[in-house]
Amino acid sequence: MVLKQQVIGSERRWAGLEAPRRGHSGASPSARPATFECVPGSRHSIWKLALGAVVSLAALSGCAHPMIENGAVREGPMRDIVANTVRARAIEPEGPITARVVNREELLATLSEAFDEWKTPAELEDYQRALIALGLWPADREIYTEALAVYGEEIVGIYVPASGELLLVSDARAPRGLAFLSAVLRRDFQTEFVLSHEIIHLLQHQAYPELIDPDRMPNNSDDLEAAIQAALEGDAMRFGFDAIGLQAPTPEEWMALVDGQFPGPEGSALAAAPALIRLTLDFPYSRGYAMAWREEFRLLESPPISTEQAMHDDRRLEAFLQMDLTALEDRLPADCRTLQRNTVGELQISVLFRDLSEDPDPAIWEGWNGDRYLVADCAGRTEWVWWTAWDSATDASEFADAYLELAPAVAARAGSAIPVSARTEATYVVVTSSGFAGEASKPPPPATRVADLVSLQALLRSTE
Ligand SMILES: [Zn+2]
Repeated sequence: MVLKQQVIGSERRWAGLEAPRRGHSGASPSARPATFECVPGSRHSIWKLALGAVVSLAALSGCAHPMIENGAVREGPMRDIVANTVRARAIEPEGPITARVVNREELLATLSEAFDEWKTPAELEDYQRALIALGLWPADREIYTEALAVYGEEIVGIYVPASGELLLVSDARAPRGLAFLSAVLRRDFQTEFVLSHEIIHLLQHQAYPELIDPDRMPNNSDDLEAAIQAALEGDAMRFGFDAIGLQAPTPEEWMALVDGQFPGPEGSALAAAPALIRLTLDFPYSRGYAMAWREEFRLLESPPISTEQAMHDDRRLEAFLQMDLTALEDRLPADCRTLQRNTVGELQISVLFRDLSEDPDPAIWEGWNGDRYLVADCAGRTEWVWWTAWDSATDASEFADAYLELAPAVAARAGSAIPVSARTEATYVVVTSSGFAGEASKPPPPATRVADLVSLQALLRSTE
């Protein structure tokens, strides 16, 4: 979950370029005037500054030319940033680009609307029940509340695909490294970086609507959405550096920085968020950046369609099995209503194990070759079937063994009295709730091998 198209343009976090936050060091955010003054041709290794050791210097600031003035981005600097970003990303915009400055309340209202567009409250409830059943989400937390709390705290800018609007959050605090650099160079790197990043999202939307438009991106595969979001964020981060004239860090430098920033400081909404948010929020910024670094503009031409493809450099084009549970759904008892059909994917399987067990071996999920689940409400009970496919019989039994060990924790979290059961057949493992145990003796569902976006989108649409 978490990585959703409707808020995909939103900037959850300036991974690594992070502002000090409430409850972290107790330092109060200084209201520093933003500045803008062009330093043509200069390139600076911002990420090194952001790495730390400049905390005490963050107070250095104050410049003559605020970039945001009277609650709006100044026209001249905006024009420059748009021109530089368009040049860096090499996509011509379809029309004029403007940005609106909003406060945190307005941001939350926008996020809330985006959420409703992603899933209606009823759909969200069904989805949440499904995640709880699988052990991916704690029963006593609300997705909506948690996501809004985290995004509300982390977001400093947002591109809203539905309206095509660029929003900047007025009270966002500058990351320490950026604040220092801004002061020294008399530029407002925070605003520049956020703006160019969001402008890139807008350009992505215009050039690659199939990756963003809700009517073209099916929302019944969490795994696909996470992979696409990684491509979009990676692309925006990578060319965002170019747009403001900063030398882009290598993936290793960037990862080291991002890793050091997660899961967020004590007291932050992120640090307190359920694992499904806490352990995946950095994914698009870390893995996405590594892909964009290597593939540059080619990344969005053929983006990853699974987190497996996004997580492993050597499996970037690896095909996987997209299973079709339509027949299974058709034979469900009459009193059952499908709550959700979806794909967990390698990333979220890793979250399941990392969350519910101690120090799991990544080999458990690395043999992933596809999965699909169906969760249903059967006269008030939540029942489910989860088919997983693996690269080899060894990979399958590795997962099955590990899953059986995990099963009591899954059942406990889901509040099921009877632990789930699992069966391995060749390269498949099927896991079911007790009420659907009969499904475990059925042959694996029909599956199609896919490696490209168009085929996967078509399959997901045809089984909706
Ligand atoms: Zn972004």
